[in-house]
Amino acid sequence: MWWQQPVTFLKGIGPKKAEELANVGIFTVGDLLEYYPRQEAYIDYGALKKINELKMDGSRQVFKASVYNARNGMGAHGKRYTLVTVRDETAYASLYFFMNQSYSARKLKPGMELLVMGRVRPGKATRVVSEVNVQLIEAGEELQPRIEPVYALSGGLTQLNLRKWMRQALALAEEELPESLPQAIVEKCNLPDRLTALKNIHFPGSWQALKEAKRRFIFEELFLLQCGLLSYRQQNHDQRQGVKHGPDGEKIAQVLAHLPYTLTPQQQQAWGEISADMAKDQPMHRILQGDVGSGKTVISALALAKAVENGYQGCIMAPTEILARQHYATLQEYLEPAGIRVGLLVGGMRVKARRELLLNLELGLIDVLVGTHALLEEDVRFARLSLAVTDEQHRFGVEQRARLATKSALAPDVLVMTATPIPRTLALTVYGDLDISLMKGRPPGRKPVQTLCYNEAKRSQVYEGLLRQVQAGRQAYIVCPLIEESETLEARSAENVFAELTHKSKGVLRSVPCALLHGRLKPAEKEAIMAAFAAGETKVLVSTTVIEVGVNVPNATLMVIENAERFGLAQLHQLRGRVGRGSQQSYCVLLTGVDTPEALARLQVLRDSEDGFYLAEKDLEQRGVGQLFGLRQHGLPDLRIADIIRDTETIAQVRKLAQEELTKPQALDEIKRLVELQFGQRFAMIFNT
Ligand code: ADP
Ligand code: MG
Repeated sequence: MWWQQPVTFLKGIGPKKAEELANVGIFTVGDLLEYYPRQEAYIDYGALKKINELKMDGSRQVFKASVYNARNGMGAHGKRYTLVTVRDETAYASLYFFMNQSYSARKLKPGMELLVMGRVRPGKATRVVSEVNVQLIEAGEELQPRIEPVYALSGGLTQLNLRKWMRQALALAEEELPESLPQAIVEKCNLPDRLTALKNIHFPGSWQALKEAKRRFIFEELFLLQCGLLSYRQQNHDQRQGVKHGPDGEKIAQVLAHLPYTLTPQQQQAWGEISADMAKDQPMHRILQGDVGSGKTVISALALAKAVENGYQGCIMAPTEILARQHYATLQEYLEPAGIRVGLLVGGMRVKARRELLLNLELGLIDVLVGTHALLEEDVRFARLSLAVTDEQHRFGVEQRARLATKSALAPDVLVMTATPIPRTLALTVYGDLDISLMKGRPPGRKPVQTLCYNEAKRSQVYEGLLRQVQAGRQAYIVCPLIEESETLEARSAENVFAELTHKSKGVLRSVPCALLHGRLKPAEKEAIMAAFAAGETKVLVSTTVIEVGVNVPNATLMVIENAERFGLAQLHQLRGRVGRGSQQSYCVLLTGVDTPEALARLQVLRDSEDGFYLAEKDLEQRGVGQLFGLRQHGLPDLRIADIIRDTETIAQVRKLAQEELTKPQALDEIKRLVELQFGQRFAMIFNT
């Protein structure tokens, strides 16, 4: 198919241009057509102004003028330019062409009629136009009022190149272009067909046609995305009959009665949703999203107790051994008063102990098994598993979730817990395959972490504070953006900070037990370092961002984050969540390498809020979806034109349509065929998992 051909298939694209295109992600002719113009930047040749009407605010404008004269000059830094003066009946304007553009300037002769496009600013005597594009108006040519696309450029690509290639590609599309959406949906939603939409997104016939084209492509992206997520849900979700648990009974009452606190309204709400799901015939597929410290563990304990009181078993999987051990201790505390037997399975257990544990599990002598991914191993078999919980889900990925469910002859209920706060609008997309329970805020009784923003000048004061905390018997984290010094990035590295602080004679912490933790260490080494810190043997942990989300070291009261400006708000918030877990006042110090007011204002938000959902939304505003912490792990395809925040209404609409569509026989196969045919790899990821 022409659209699967490499771009060199088109006239005018050789290896060099192909390379430039590859740099912006365009490899095939089809990719090229999906390189939509910048949506805010189309130029309307229909709305031509006179020169004296042009706004001098640096915005791109278009006008008609004739060439008066042209001369070459040399600007600052020895940059050669051509200055072309043009005029109409109202005024003169100066067009500056730099370097490779001067080729087009050389062809300009006095008296030629031009259509000029560029950024207009005030000059000494005339208006000055830069980033100029001109188009000759032939003698007697009637100017067609039309709208021209403006593409995001990179390297040696020009608007002219891209427009020319787009026209070629569109000519091919004219011959043959299959639909990418089910025909019935196109008709029902009154969308323009694909060819019309493609033509109008690149070279709009009118503003209305452009709007329609845009609507279609936004719809297309979101519809395919939702179909992918739903198909994923169908494939991975158990078709087997689920376990119908009874109403909350005695064991739940016992667990609740033994808690040293009562559930918050948020927890009650979440528990109500989970409990109701568990009482249904169909297996539960629910995610419990709750900020760090929002109290998710007790909710999992209740769900596990519910499985057990109905005569079944439950399990909970954590991403690391230290987290698994932590859960094991907590769950024993919560569940044993109700007579529930809890076991722990981690890697590297003695053969005999492991064998005995697995035997007891199979005999039903263990009710709840806590563990790491060791739970997924072949020989781990449950007698009657009816609930599988995974904690900090983005670390596992989705296949593992599904694999845990295969551990049972029954279709177990699945509960996923995550501390990555994702705004509701996004969650619908990211967790399209799961129902969502939310817990905002934290249980009462905790002191908020005091957050401080400092610049480099305050470093020695920060170190003094650090030493004071340690001397008072507390522990601290220091988080750095890099492991080792980098030549290209100006940021503090964990190795350097560690060396500086522990320096034999000058180090502030020279007589304090410190450790260095980063992602290049072996998992066992990392675990050992974390365990020593959790046990209080190590006082200060210098680390990259690898410290576990859920790690609970109540004695850690200070976190210093180096180059805080390099992190997103949501991630800083997650890091901060490691302190403030005990009864002591805790502190989070954000050290910045930059002093710009914007950087400080951004961090200020963190000082004023401890609400992870709010911060995630701020992050979205500030940095866009792509940057949102934790999102990339979810394997979402990049969206070219749709915007998950702006287009929430469309998301809701296409979600319903996609659901309807996929109930039809063969609908999914048909959509998969269309997607594969049209988009190659772009959407393949969500359809093929
Ligand atoms: P996370 O959601 O991060 O896993 P945890 O389950 O570890 O949070 O809970 C954080 C802390 O809050 C724990 O020390 C827990 O005992 C405490 N906690 C949980 N629920 C409540 C509550 N309703 N009232 C008071 N403290 C609570
Ligand atoms: Mg937790």
